[in-house]
Amino acid sequence: SYVIALPCVDVMDRSCIDECPVDCIYEGRRALYIQPDECVDCGACEPVCPVEAIYFEDDVPTEWGDHRGSNADFFTTL
Ligand code: SF4
Repeated sequence: SYVIALPCVDVMDRSCIDECPVDCIYEGRRALYIQPDECVDCGACEPVCPVEAIYFEDDVPTEWGDHRGSNADFFTTL
């Protein structure tokens, strides 16, 4: 699935939420999160993010690699 990486923290522009056809982007306290089981990999959210925080999971810059873990953790702790 696609994931929202570190640049979203404290930005939460929400443009991606309007683009997502399956409404799988959720609001956390400081960032937005993509529910990996609901994301259909359409890619519509990626180009609209003003801070380029959204990546396909295999393309997340390595310095933000562990943010993928925090994305998954967000949903397991809901
Ligand atoms: Fe939603 Fe598509 Fe982005 Fe997945 S890739 S979060 S389905 S807009």
